[in-house]
Amino acid sequence: MCFLAAYAASFIYILFDQEYVHAYLAHGVLLAGGGLFVFLVTRYCYNSLLEQEYQASHDRVTQLKNRHSFNKSISMLAKSLSPFYIMLIDLNGFKKFNDAFGHPFGDELLRQVAEKLSKQLPEHCRLYRVGGDEFAILGHNRQQHHLEKDIKIIQQQFEQPISVRKQNLHIGISIGVSSYPTHSNNAHELVQQAEQALYAAKSRKRHWKIYSEDLNKNALEHLAIANKLQNAIDKQQFQLFYQPIIKASNNSIHGAEVLLRWKQADGSYIPPDTFIPIAEQSTLIHDITCWVIKQAIEDLAILDKQGFTGCLHINLSAKDLHNNMLLTCLDKIAAKVTPQRIIFEVTESAMMTDIKQATKVMVELVNSGFAFSLDDFGTGFSSFPLLRDLPIEQIKIDRSFVINMASHEANQSIVRSIIFLAKSLNCTVVAEGVEDNTSIGLLQVMGCHYLQGYFFSRPVSLEQYQQLLDALPPASSESHQTRLNSF
Ligand SMILES: [Mg+2]
Repeated sequence: MCFLAAYAASFIYILFDQEYVHAYLAHGVLLAGGGLFVFLVTRYCYNSLLEQEYQASHDRVTQLKNRHSFNKSISMLAKSLSPFYIMLIDLNGFKKFNDAFGHPFGDELLRQVAEKLSKQLPEHCRLYRVGGDEFAILGHNRQQHHLEKDIKIIQQQFEQPISVRKQNLHIGISIGVSSYPTHSNNAHELVQQAEQALYAAKSRKRHWKIYSEDLNKNALEHLAIANKLQNAIDKQQFQLFYQPIIKASNNSIHGAEVLLRWKQADGSYIPPDTFIPIAEQSTLIHDITCWVIKQAIEDLAILDKQGFTGCLHINLSAKDLHNNMLLTCLDKIAAKVTPQRIIFEVTESAMMTDIKQATKVMVELVNSGFAFSLDDFGTGFSSFPLLRDLPIEQIKIDRSFVINMASHEANQSIVRSIIFLAKSLNCTVVAEGVEDNTSIGLLQVMGCHYLQGYFFSRPVSLEQYQQLLDALPPASSESHQTRLNSF
């Protein structure tokens, strides 16, 4: 409008003002106004472009550079041919805090972590946030021993708790590293290798791992197992084995822990430690758990014909408590069994990952008559609130405390304390890893209820378990009693 008015004024003055003084004035104003306008528009566009570029390259929560920038930087570094490393950092158990305290709390925690990492970041490094609870560092031109020094610097920052909204949180981190050009000269491959190293660090409960060829081999094996697992149920390759659980007071058979075995065409077995974590990465784990429960119930009917009255202990995966699929599975088959004959074994980490959902599933099953045993007790968080708040009827002392307790006084003290704790909470106790007579004597004196271990029997096939039942008659009526009627 200003421009139009100025042009009109200029035209009128040229027509009617013989001296052109006013026309020159109007031209001057026009040019000055136009210049100012162009300057303001250019500045606005420039700022807006800068803002857009910043938003596209930075993470909103921590203001660190994001994955897009990270990928761009790796490609540029790889093109420059100078050595560098990729360090991926993952916060252990972040989801737990996010679920327990909410997303604003989780965001605050991420900001604090970003600040902590930025403060002590070695000069030759750049920090990025590349995913939910995943950070990345690109470090330039480092030898292996320098790299390990950098890892130590990062780890030391997490030795002290992080304070978020007056809560002191002990956050652990896992680190996976790959180097250019040692491991690969392809940017995409380097990221994959760092991810593999991170996965290995997490799954082996190590704090950090530098990529090696072995990991790649493992990844290929992992893929092969994942493919074979798809058809294992249909091809009837799974088998159930049974390890007797003995009543400590009279050495009679109380029940059995059901253990899954996966037989291969060559007669070898792939251990559950190998294939269960792979199954847990998809919904396949639910199909496997459901198959185990169905098969165990069928086997229980066979054992019952022989006069067996004990309980079968079925291990659940951490993932089985994370949704309602276990409930759906049991809905279909629960009518075929007396729930009091089944005890589900769960680990602390299974409950901790999503405590709300785990509680929901556990309470519903306890209300239907099933019971829960806390497996591997003493090796995980040993979190007392879990014991207090969840419907746990039994504690299984981890075998690492029992196996050498006869010659290890500290382990005796730990076992004694766990038995005392369990009894105070009105829980029964199973000692796993019983392998010698002296330990049996000690456990009996301590008042342990049940014993399990190679001293009595290794896990055996159903037929062999039936033979054991003939040799060691079951105690009379061994179904569990529900401890907490309030659930
Ligand atoms: Mg178990």
